[in-house]
Amino acid sequence: MENTTNRTIVLKKCKKCGKEKDIGLFRNQSNSKDLKFPWCRNCQDKESKNNYLKNKTHRLELVKNWQKQNSEKIKIYKKNWAIKQKMTIQKSYEER
Ligand SMILES: [Zn+2]
Repeated sequence: MENTTNRTIVLKKCKKCGKEKDIGLFRNQSNSKDLKFPWCRNCQDKESKNNYLKNKTHRLELVKNWQKQNSEKIKIYKKNWAIKQKMTIQKSYEER
């Protein structure tokens, strides 16, 4: 292989996209064999963005489901809370 620059280019194959890229395009990772993350920066960024979006929608769904399953409980809780509030207010008036 002809080397026109003095800089040795070390290539590393990205495990995600399968492309060989300059090792400089991989982030450092201290606990891996070659101290580099197995995915290139591009793939890592894409993946973390995807995960973030996935987690976000997943979390929203969890909350929605929980509210659906517990809508009666929430209603009762809110009602109880309102009654409690009323009672505390009345009590504080009576104590005066
Ligand atoms: Zn990649």
